[in-house]
Amino acid sequence: MTIERIGVIGAGQMGNGIAHVLALAGYDVVLDDINKETLAKALERIDKNMHRQAARGLIKDELIAPALKRIRVTQALDDMKDRDLVIEAATEDEATKKKIFQELCPRLSPNTLVATNTSSISVTRLATATDRPEHFIGIHFMNPVPMMQLVEVIRGIATDDTTFQAALEIVKRVGKTAAYAEDFPAFIVNRILQPMINEAVYTLYEGVGNVEAIDTAMRLGANHPMGPLQLADFIGLDTCLSIMQVLYEGLADSKYRPCPLLVKYVEAGWLGQKTGRGFYDYRGEHPVPTR
Ligand code: NAD
Repeated sequence: MTIERIGVIGAGQMGNGIAHVLALAGYDVVLDDINKETLAKALERIDKNMHRQAARGLIKDELIAPALKRIRVTQALDDMKDRDLVIEAATEDEATKKKIFQELCPRLSPNTLVATNTSSISVTRLATATDRPEHFIGIHFMNPVPMMQLVEVIRGIATDDTTFQAALEIVKRVGKTAAYAEDFPAFIVNRILQPMINEAVYTLYEGVGNVEAIDTAMRLGANHPMGPLQLADFIGLDTCLSIMQVLYEGLADSKYRPCPLLVKYVEAGWLGQKTGRGFYDYRGEHPVPTR
């Protein structure tokens, strides 16, 4: 099946990155968000990030204008009706995502494929909120999308081969590498990564080290490019907490218990870089540890 017209729902960190790589690969993109301001910011960010890639010699300058032209923003799900595929990249919350699918599906042609960019929620369970579980799949991009090479592809129990092959084709066309993951909580990358981040928060909570010591230790002692708390701020602490909750509930094992300090930061609205404060305070010239 040929896919040329793609819809992206949610224009936050991930949605704008997904729209960016799809448009550069020649797809026609409609980008939707409930927040008008987010849509305007997403277009600005895509423009800026494409120019940054061109300055680094990663893409040709002349590709930018046509790619930007291929992205249209909307706040109306009706604008998804001519899409061959819609990728949902809204907030990591099962009820939010299910509601989107319930409102979206009646507007689509029966052949349209639907995908989710969820980091952790069961693809099989999300599929039950659609009218097309066989045409539903997980296409999990990594953050920041234009930079990261991997895309996890997750089949739900009903996902058919045509849908799976179409997802692999998209990953290939955007120049990335697919890793197939079975549909278990948080798939592969976050099953391993998030418990490490959660453990780093416990290390902070128990006073073993402060923010700076923990991040320095893992950067220089384990050769990680970013410390775990810096990475948590980059991902978004709300997303990290949601993933730990999915692991905790989905695997019913106390080793996945979210750290109470992570819960406290999220309750305070200190969600990391996207809100200006998390384990670091980003409001000044340089990030300053908050503990
Ligand atoms: P984000 O908070 O930056 O963006 C989410 C966006 O969804 C917001 O702009 C919000 O307005 C929008 N939204 C919420 N409800 C909506 C609705 N009903 N209709 C349209 N838009 C709606 O979050 P994010 O980091 O971009 O994460 C989005 C998804 O991608 C989540 O499922 C997350 O788990 C996944 N993901 C995140 C990362 C990461 O590192 N942050 C990596 C891979 C996958």
